[in-house]
Amino acid sequence: MNFKSISSLLFLGLSTLTLSACDFNNNVESNTQVQPKNIIMVVADGMGPAYPTAFRYYHDDPGTPLVERTIFDQILVGSASTYPASESGYISTSDASGAALASGVKKNNFFVTDSAASATALAAGIKTYNGAIGIDQQKQAHLTVLEWAKSIGKTTGIAVTSQIVHATPASYIAKNEKRGNYNAIADNYFDLKIDGKFKADVMLGGGTKYFIREDRNLKDEFVAAGYQYIDKFSQLSTLDSNKQVLGLFADVALPSALDSDNKNRLRTLTQTAIKQLENDNGFFLLVEASQVDWGGHSNDIAYAMGEMNDLSTTMEYLKDYVKHNPNTLVVLTADHNTGGFSIGSNGVYEWQPHFIQLLKKSPNKIANLLATNEITDQHLTELLGFTISEEEILQFNVIKLEQTLAARQQKLNANEAKIALTKRYYDAIKNIIDIRTHSGWTSGGHTGIDVPVYAIGQGKEQFYGFQDNIEIAEKLFKLMGKE
Ligand SMILES: [Zn+2]
Repeated sequence: MNFKSISSLLFLGLSTLTLSACDFNNNVESNTQVQPKNIIMVVADGMGPAYPTAFRYYHDDPGTPLVERTIFDQILVGSASTYPASESGYISTSDASGAALASGVKKNNFFVTDSAASATALAAGIKTYNGAIGIDQQKQAHLTVLEWAKSIGKTTGIAVTSQIVHATPASYIAKNEKRGNYNAIADNYFDLKIDGKFKADVMLGGGTKYFIREDRNLKDEFVAAGYQYIDKFSQLSTLDSNKQVLGLFADVALPSALDSDNKNRLRTLTQTAIKQLENDNGFFLLVEASQVDWGGHSNDIAYAMGEMNDLSTTMEYLKDYVKHNPNTLVVLTADHNTGGFSIGSNGVYEWQPHFIQLLKKSPNKIANLLATNEITDQHLTELLGFTISEEEILQFNVIKLEQTLAARQQKLNANEAKIALTKRYYDAIKNIIDIRTHSGWTSGGHTGIDVPVYAIGQGKEQFYGFQDNIEIAEKLFKLMGKE
């Protein structure tokens, strides 16, 4: 596919703009390839290959000799590279240490992507710079698979566990130079249209604060335009299936799976979105397991496994959905790897995920409780589900003393002191879990390893083998009749 810029139609700075389907060389008639009626693109943010492997062992039934296969094992079809474009106009003649590169060598690609560049690759089929939302290095906007689906008469939606304006969902709908411009991205959701229609019929996730603001109330604007608005999970079952929906269930992101009342919140949102979107022309739905990445950034394997568990039940549901709706394609991949997580660490040949299973609460919650209450070893053991050593208890007491001193020296108020203490406790708990489980980490950020690709249903064979992430968008465009 050539990356024909649609810059003549789309450019930044306009508050409203309209795309017309006929401008995109619509070639539906001449395309004889099988075209799935419904397409569900699932992005597991940060889910490098170690996470589904870890989930397999975490999920294993210890009563059987062999390890059971997970839903991920059953639907694996290939892998994808994730590198971003070189920085716009930036070519380095020195390496990270500042040393000059050999003559003739110009370093212009650092291979490790962020979620905005990789989501733009998955959505629009273009390489762009880290931080870009739906635009290329020249700041030109590009058509996305969601926009194309809307232009050919499908219903469209997003269901995510982050704020709905976060990098991944934003890249399918918005156009912005910087992923952090959440208010402007939220404005795009209302202002940018395809053939005069809103881009997404269903939007489920978090992010109330970006939609209900002092300077603009997008919630009211969507309601005035005919959308139903909900802000509680209990309202999901009361939705009118003939009306578009904006559902925002948290100020920013949803709570982590471990800290949620509904541990399968992503599956719940996905089921609801599909129910709302189903129609004779089919639909395109973007689902994002947004927080695998955040577990990775925090180097918190319990957090990540909680998210993987929610994703796995979502995929089980989608596999069943395809069984009953065989003209549906589901593709799952990650945008990049996060944390450099390893199964086994420090030369020890074992991984002990059952320590994660034993936790009574998330590491973050345990840290919070400890910062609020007096520590006793009995209390800690109760929360962790396993007995900790005297040295470990001592560590917590040392942290408390150090933080009491630091709070006094830095003149922190009670709340600031509690936040600082909670963070130290959180790090200590994660460290205990890493040591017990033999989990390793190489980074608090992203790493450049290839990611797995999974597919179910009509057209899944298109995704077999190795591919680059931009090819995933190219294949989806083709499966929706765009040449
Ligand atoms: Zn990330």
